[in-house]
Amino acid sequence: MKVELLSPAGDLERLKIACIYGADAVYIGGYKYNLRANATNFSLSEIKEGCKFAHALGKKVYLTLNIAFHNEDLDLVYDYIKEVVDAGIDAFIVSDLSIVKYIKDNFKVEVHLSTQDSISNYRSVKYLEEEKIDRVVLAREVRRDDIKEIIRKTNMDIEVFIHGAMCTFISGRCALSNYFTNRDSNRGGCAQICRFCFSINSESEPFSMAVKDLNMALYIKDMIAIGVKSFKIEGRMRSPFYLAVVISSYRRIIDAIYSNTLTSNLLNKELKILSRVSNRENSSHFYDKEADVSDQYYSGRGENSNQDYLGIIYKKDNNLYTIRQRNYFKLGDEVEIITPNMDIINFKVTNLYNEKGESISVANQADSIIKISIDKDLPIFSMIRKCYLK
Ligand code: SF4
Repeated sequence: MKVELLSPAGDLERLKIACIYGADAVYIGGYKYNLRANATNFSLSEIKEGCKFAHALGKKVYLTLNIAFHNEDLDLVYDYIKEVVDAGIDAFIVSDLSIVKYIKDNFKVEVHLSTQDSISNYRSVKYLEEEKIDRVVLAREVRRDDIKEIIRKTNMDIEVFIHGAMCTFISGRCALSNYFTNRDSNRGGCAQICRFCFSINSESEPFSMAVKDLNMALYIKDMIAIGVKSFKIEGRMRSPFYLAVVISSYRRIIDAIYSNTLTSNLLNKELKILSRVSNRENSSHFYDKEADVSDQYYSGRGENSNQDYLGIIYKKDNNLYTIRQRNYFKLGDEVEIITPNMDIINFKVTNLYNEKGESISVANQADSIIKISIDKDLPIFSMIRKCYLK
């Protein structure tokens, strides 16, 4: 069976985009008990709708329930678990062992142990096997040879992170945010303090504790060979555009591996696409070596704003496409259109209309509605971006 490509989804639109751009499964957060309190998150009716949408395409939906539970958090969680099981989710991603036991004792739904538990060795995984856990999301800090040994010595489905932001501290073992901002990072409130700039005194050079993002595109083939079952992308706060680009890129790499058509050309092209959509540098961190100073951002946050995302098509009337605009572009610009069926189409903007149908020469108001006539049959959720491949 093919390895699973697992995407984050911060809301219903992103769930749909992740599914149609090639994810096999998505993970979402409900209104409580997950580590992204600032993501839009899903109401119960949205969970139902998301599950219905994903299941119709043969995809799965996992719900994160992975905060560090304190006594007060337990009051309502049991009712909530029943509600979301009824809504149709396929698995819970859990860190608290009492919640694991409760779900296992009362429901047939799968339980995946969250990376928050920092599982890093085969004996822990063997123990979790005895507890009937269905999958373990390993700590992001586990080396390749240890992943291989864990897979060889257990029968557990192993999931690993392959792309996105990393913690400077081992995930789930950081309380910087609590101390600095009164926001509990293990109950969804992380303010990313590690990316702040600090200085020892007024004369010293400012420094940060942030680390580069993870990018495992070069190691996908190796990880499939050692038996990893699921590849997880980080980022429930990421934009629809980021998800579409990253998911479709990994989709093409995975499919090419299974069809024996992965070439260095294709891999280089995908690396170029992935680096373009990211606003930070990236690294493989702990997989093939010990992470060191080269994986860190000592000075500054190291982030660039990304203005490549120009708009998303959400309605069509023959060849007239209605687009929610994101960043500035104008008549005469050469752009790329990416589509859910993995096409990348070059296009020159030769016409532009505002919502009322009046001709305009620039699209310069984020989130405004514009229309473009394009002589191609493009699916809904196709996206327009600056040219990546020239
Ligand atoms: S402050 Fe940084 S290291 Fe700590 S939990 Fe937040 S992102 Fe992770």
